[in-house]
Order: sequence, then C-alpha cells, then structure tokens
Amino acid sequence: MEEPSIPNAYDVALKQLALAAEMMGLDPNIHEILKYPKRCLIVAVPIKMDSGEVKVFTGYRVQHTDARGPYKGGIRYHPSVTLEEVKGLAMLMTWKCAVVDIPYGGAKGAIVCDPKRMSETELERLTRRYTAMIADIIGPLRDIPAPDVYTGPREMAWLMDTYSQLHGYLIPEVVTGKPLSVWGSEGRLKATARGVSVCIKETVKELGIGLRGLKIAIQGFGNVGSNLATILAEEGCRIIALSDSKGGIYNPEGLNPIKVLEYKRSSRSVVGFPGAKTISNEELLAMECDILVPAALGGQLTEKNAENVKAKAIVEAANSPITPKADEILAEKGIMVIPDILANAGGVCVSYLEWIQNLHREHWPLEEINKRLEERMSRSYHDVKRVAEEKGIDMRKAAMILAVGRVADSMKTLGLWP
Ligand code: NAD
Repeated sequence: MEEPSIPNAYDVALKQLALAAEMMGLDPNIHEILKYPKRCLIVAVPIKMDSGEVKVFTGYRVQHTDARGPYKGGIRYHPSVTLEEVKGLAMLMTWKCAVVDIPYGGAKGAIVCDPKRMSETELERLTRRYTAMIADIIGPLRDIPAPDVYTGPREMAWLMDTYSQLHGYLIPEVVTGKPLSVWGSEGRLKATARGVSVCIKETVKELGIGLRGLKIAIQGFGNVGSNLATILAEEGCRIIALSDSKGGIYNPEGLNPIKVLEYKRSSRSVVGFPGAKTISNEELLAMECDILVPAALGGQLTEKNAENVKAKAIVEAANSPITPKADEILAEKGIMVIPDILANAGGVCVSYLEWIQNLHREHWPLEEINKRLEERMSRSYHDVKRVAEEKGIDMRKAAMILAVGRVADSMKTLGLWP
C-alpha cells in the first residue's frame, strides 16, 4: 500500500467545512451532501515503458460538486498522491471557485507516478492513456482539467489532443493551462502571482502602509514566488528575502528578482546570490518584514514556529502553508492572514478566461486578461472582507463562509432530485 503524502487532506477539508457550517448555521442536509465527492473515478493506466516493459499506474479523477457549474481542477503527477488527498483537494477547488465567484464546481485529478524518473515519451503515453480512461466524465461543459504539481502546458496539450482525437474534432475548451500555440491564454503562467499581488495591494491599503519600499519576504522561488517577486519589485516594493528548497537569501536593501532568477538558472538555487546574506527557511519565516508570502509547500508555519513570525500580514500563495494551530497563534499575535482559497485563486480565474475565449474561438490581449483578473481578485477580496467585518471573524473563516454559502444557495435553488 502507498503511504499518503498528506494523510488527512480530506479530513482537514471536512473539518474546515464543519467549522464553516457551524458558524453560518448551514442546513444539515446540505452539509451532509457536501461532505462527499459526487464521483471518484479510479483507473489503472497501462503504458509501455521505453524498455518495452508494461507498467500499470493508478489514476484518479474526483468530482466534488457541480452545483455552481462544470467541475474544474488540476491534475497532479506525484509518487505519493492518494485518493484521500485528491478528495480533499477537489473540495478545496469547490470553495476556491466559489470565493472568486466563478461558475465552476470543484474537482481534482492525479496519477501516482514519479515524473522525474520518466522520459518525455513515457509521460506522453501516460497522459494520453489516462485522458482516454477519464474521457467519459470530463468535457468542456462537464469537467475541465488544468495543470497542477508536475504537470504543465505540455501535458495539457496532450490531453486536449487525445480528447479531440477521440471525438473527431478539435476541442480546446476541454482543458485550460494550454500552450499559447494551441488556444492557451495570455497571462496564464503569471496569473496566480498576479492574483497574489492584488491581495497584497489590498492588504497594504488596509494596514495603512504604502506599496513603495514595502518589505516583502517570499518563501519559494518557483513559478508563483519568482513571478510575484518580479511583479512586486516593478511596483516599487523591496524584496528583502527569498528562498527555495536549498535555503534563502537576504538583503535589507532589496534583491533584484530578475537577477536572482538568472543566477538560479545557472546555479540551480538562489543560495549564493552575490551581495546577499545566506539564511535558512526558518529565518525567512521569522523575518522582520511587512508581508510574508509562503509560496512553496503546505504546512510551513506550525505551532513550533508561528510564534516567531514578525510580519504584519501573511498572504498564502501556497495551498495550506499554515496549520490550524499556527493560525490560532498568529491570530493571537494580531497578524492578518489572507487565506489560500482567496489569495492563490488567480490561476483558476485566468483558466476561466481561457475557457471563455476557447468557447468563443477568441484570443484576448494580455491587457484585457490582466484587467479582468485584477478586477475579479479585488472584488473577491472585498467580498470576503465584508463578511469578516459583518461577523467579526478572520479572513479565512470569512472566505469559507462566503464560499460554502454560495454553493449552498445554488443547491437549495436546484433542489434535490428526485
Ligand atoms: P514550483 O514547483 O514552481 O515552485 C516551488 C518552489 O518552492 C521552488 O522554488 C522550490 O525550490 C521551493 N521549495 C520547495 N521546498 C521548499 C522548502 N522546504 N522551503 C522553501 N522553498 C521550498 O511551484 P509553484 O507553481 O510556484 O507553486 C507554489 C505553491 O503555490 C504550491 O503550494 C502550489 O500548490 C501553490 N499554487 C500554485 C498555483 C500555480 O498556478 N502555480 C496555483 C495555486 C496554488
């Protein structure tokens, strides 16, 4: 049996739902329905490896609810992904789409595999066969996959092509996160970072501090972290600390993210960047700064280190970077937290725009995409803020109440058939 990488991701999701249900007085019948994913498909995906040997991989597609629209959610490739984890992530997608008011439900997919140990041709065969095996339950108006951990535009192009071949005509709207050359959207790669940057700007306004010279520390310098650092530096913020899995760097005068990116490309880590002091990830999390952005992994701020945080606010770019216990400690310290389901929803917002463009066979310019993304993120931030103020609760609880409330409203209106 495989070891779960996040043993209780589904349990955590259930607890979050129960907490929101209690605070908002959710109809127990709706709560009961929302506890379970509507559909879990498990497939055994056989492919021929380059050696000629046949290997069978386990694949999942979990659909939580489609009460607000077609299912939406990424596909991850990971050696330790489990069905329970995928169930938890599918539920999280429901709340994420609802909090930014996109007409989608939540889903997630996965294949238990180690993509770092597979060739490109093996990965292509795996993606195509998996697509064929889930083809009955996905579709442009049914369930629209997207990239997630260790999948990207390349895999999405294979998925789109396979689905199209099975149906006999080109169907770009079956998947988002595609390359630009095959109906992808402008701005998709930087969308999550841009969404996080909108949340930071709104938070800063609330704290009554300006953007210019704002001291930012970012944990993780991958897609989200590096794009965010670049966007914020362009806006005049001072990126004082950055890190990756090998460690971190610090310069109180501010780091140039483009130069750090160039350095990382050649040396494979930010550590050793000229003119910066080397720090540990723990030191980065405890850094004296205005905004701390965890943009790496889940579970980074725990009851062990939350007490050391000195930032004025934390904006969660990563999924679940703060444990519930750490959340309580941060609340006691008066540190504002902008939750993941709001802060990192920029990616799914632009996925939605990609889908609309595909359905209409249009291609919008980057300015149009960014304008729509920024408006939606800013509106969603204020929607959550309003609930937080009305109920006197923090932004995480407010985001959950808003999201669950929107889904519950749709379910009530639709009724229960038969
Ligand atoms: P990525 O793989 O491109 O980058 C992850 C970064 O984290 C890398 O720089 C890696 O070195 C670093 N890292 C890994 N372990 C670390 C550790 N222990 N300490 C410090 N740094 C560490 O991933 P990404 O796409 O940038 O995603 C980052 C986070 O944002 C993930 O939690 C992801 O689920 C979440 N997220 C991403 C998107 C998106 O569109 N990419 C959307 C929503 C949420």
